[in-house]
Amino acid sequence: MSKQIVCKFGGSSVENAAQIKKVANIIQDNNKRKYIVVSAPGRDEKHGIKITDHLLNISNSRHLADEDLTSEQSKEIVLDKFEGLLKDLVIEDKTLLEDLKKDLDTKLTGEKREAFLASRGEKYNARIIADYLNKLGLKTKLILPEEVGFTVSSDFLSAKVLAESYKNLAKLKNESDICLVPGFYGVTKKGEIAVLSRGGSDLTGGEIAYAINASLYENWSDIDGVYEADPRIVDNADVVQRLTFKEIRLLSSKGFNVFHFDAMINCKKANIPINIRNTNKPSANGTMILTDRVPMENIVGIAKLDDMAYIYLEKDGISDEVGFTENLLNIFNRYKINTYYYPTDKDDIAVLISQEDLEGNINNLKQDIEKELNPDVIDVVYNLSILSAVGIGLKDDTTIIADAIIALKEQNIEIEMMDQSPAKISFHIAVNSQHADTALKILHEKLI
Ligand code: ASP
Repeated sequence: MSKQIVCKFGGSSVENAAQIKKVANIIQDNNKRKYIVVSAPGRDEKHGIKITDHLLNISNSRHLADEDLTSEQSKEIVLDKFEGLLKDLVIEDKTLLEDLKKDLDTKLTGEKREAFLASRGEKYNARIIADYLNKLGLKTKLILPEEVGFTVSSDFLSAKVLAESYKNLAKLKNESDICLVPGFYGVTKKGEIAVLSRGGSDLTGGEIAYAINASLYENWSDIDGVYEADPRIVDNADVVQRLTFKEIRLLSSKGFNVFHFDAMINCKKANIPINIRNTNKPSANGTMILTDRVPMENIVGIAKLDDMAYIYLEKDGISDEVGFTENLLNIFNRYKINTYYYPTDKDDIAVLISQEDLEGNINNLKQDIEKELNPDVIDVVYNLSILSAVGIGLKDDTTIIADAIIALKEQNIEIEMMDQSPAKISFHIAVNSQHADTALKILHEKLI
């Protein structure tokens, strides 16, 4: 394992000169921070809209329809942003604005155009930051995805990283300078620019960490780390110091919005810890995501997933009818509806899904279920929230579930559904959405 650290700095960390100076200090602070991935420069000051969204609006003026901003206005805003960065960081790059202007006038069309424009925020920000680090005397090389061969599929707006990328990125191990890489985009086998899904700079960082076998992947943004529960609802939720990949995956899939889900996959595979840190508070340790931890605490976090619903079926002897559940799930599959849980008993079954997926589908879905499975009762229950408590220590003490139930009972909060994961490291309680915030506070108080 190389001793090098990969750092990814998110949009708010690189959105103006003051933030970029903080980033430079962080890099200077530890000479192992050698691979630096940057996002586009956050948001514009006037409208608070992401530069990436302005770039998409230049491509397709319907993108920011709600804001009523034309492509031309977005173009002005983007150019102003980069001009301001050059001026405030006192960087002499005579051709940068000209190059950017030329790129913004691209003749590409369709998805290729959107992807190319969307990627410009990262590309030009990386160029500026590389110039700035060099100006400070930190020897830095700008590494562009198209030059190093960060090869991706030709799904232009949500490209997947191809295996050959790892071989190409691994060559960066031989670089002696700091490598500054724009996140979020790659190049297809035909040499065209394609972007990863939104928030994809996290993934660029994770893939570089994997390819060079880094000792650590630091993900810097404007949050202190992963919280035990949503801090906007639970005032006294603390930052979790360490949690496992498994735990963060479970929490992210149930509503924790930490960072790009796919960015974890290869780091987990190669056992590379991820450290979530705050650029505005570099002295704090943030959250460490590891393969393993000693479970000092049983539960590390409680996630809340809103806008859920379930479809409930009753029919005599469901559990004796071979293939009933499979046939039911196949119907959801046909409608491309993801099913979360499906608790079942002798004569009934419920399938939990996202409410959004039922829009426009519910009548047909119900008809298909009635026709194909002939249930005695079919009901849809809306407005549910699922609270998911996660922690590897739960495996050794499942009686915690009783504490959760009693705590909710004391506040007269009715439980609509319950489910314990087979791995015994999480359990899920569905409550009516109107009680969800209160329930989250109660469970946090009681369990963590
Ligand atoms: N700038 C891109 C986005 O807004 C990618 C990123 O920031 O990771 O989604």
